[in-house]
Amino acid sequence: MRAERCVNETHITGLRTDLIVCPQCDAAWSLERPDAGQRAVCGRCGEVLIEPRRKAGKQIIALSLAIAILILAAALFPFLTISVSGATNSVSVLQAALAFSDGPLVLLSLATAALIVFIPLARVLLSLYVLIPIVRDQPPARYAAKAFRLSEALRPWSMAEIFVIGCAVALIKISDLAEVSFGPAFWMFSTLVLLVVVNEAYLCRWSVWNALNKPARS
Ligand SMILES: [Zn+2]
Repeated sequence: MRAERCVNETHITGLRTDLIVCPQCDAAWSLERPDAGQRAVCGRCGEVLIEPRRKAGKQIIALSLAIAILILAAALFPFLTISVSGATNSVSVLQAALAFSDGPLVLLSLATAALIVFIPLARVLLSLYVLIPIVRDQPPARYAAKAFRLSEALRPWSMAEIFVIGCAVALIKISDLAEVSFGPAFWMFSTLVLLVVVNEAYLCRWSVWNALNKPARS
């Protein structure tokens, strides 16, 4: 069982590094660093504010590498195979997303490819760029704070999981008309979605920002 410790509410005066603001309800608390295995939660809404984990950095890096490889493979391998009266066709995610790239729907094609492949890939690469120096106890990489902020800003636009759910629903609907089977990329995408969820749970954002506050490499 994990020990929890609430921090005390206080007033904000000027720019202070001894305060932490709850991202959920905006309550400001005086900062009390939890020990390993403990976590600090917001006393008003219960949002987890700080949850440091020993060796979490290496686990996040390993997961991020696995996610990057899976995204690339899942984009290129056949996603599904459709058979209708003897004719069979299999298609990869990138082929499907870019199928309309020479018509008026080119923007839709590019947006689809970005949301399900390129934005998730960019987030993984940005977090690797930020985390590898921190985990190796080196000063933060150049522009690491901007990279981490961009990675956080892209989070709502990373939609691989929505794509997998949408495909599953669409396939159930057309299963009466044609014989549909999943290719290797479908299972890669499904694994990928699970790994992203675990990765997000491991990442303590306060710990990353705290490490990035150390002087940058010149
Ligand atoms: Zn709160």
